[in-house]
Amino acid sequence: SREQTAELVSRLLRDIPDFPEPGVLFKDITPLVADGPALAQVCEALAAPYRDAGITTVVGLEARGFIFGTAVALALGAGFVPVRKAGKLPGATVSLDYALEYGTARVEVHEDCVTPGERVLVVDDVLATGGTAAAAAELLEQVGAEVVAIEVVVELAALAGRSRLEGREVGALLTV
Ligand code: AMP
Repeated sequence: SREQTAELVSRLLRDIPDFPEPGVLFKDITPLVADGPALAQVCEALAAPYRDAGITTVVGLEARGFIFGTAVALALGAGFVPVRKAGKLPGATVSLDYALEYGTARVEVHEDCVTPGERVLVVDDVLATGGTAAAAAELLEQVGAEVVAIEVVVELAALAGRSRLEGREVGALLTV
């Protein structure tokens, strides 16, 4: 069940204080993905709500969203598209700058990564402020995709990512 998966995620996530900078409590998913049965259960649970949603493409956010996103794509019989940090994609891209707590970041997709009207599911490991997911969803819409939902392993409720994704469908296996 989804509750059992939440319990599993909570047990296998590792909290690393003050990484990558003082004051940040980093949610480390590496113990979870290193465990074969846990990895399978988590990816199955991420995909389950979208079995009949007509998803043709799963979009993963660099870098840990690539791990879960590819597995979810396989589970749904969908393709995989990466959203990357600036300067990594070789083809023609569209990009979007968004505000971080300090400064800005830029995400990119290939301009031809979807066929207009494709139904996409965005997958990442952690939803924090929601800035990255919001920028990714906007970019995908710019290239013609329909963003069905954003699904994450862990949501950090205190950072209010959901409010930045107002009007969008957001799912999380575990909310802390
Ligand atoms: P945000 O744009 O604030 O929602 O941050 C999302 C991105 O940063 C995700 O791709 C996460 O992998 C990463 N991230 C942000 N905060 C954390 C955290 N406390 N622990 C682990 N990853 C985080």
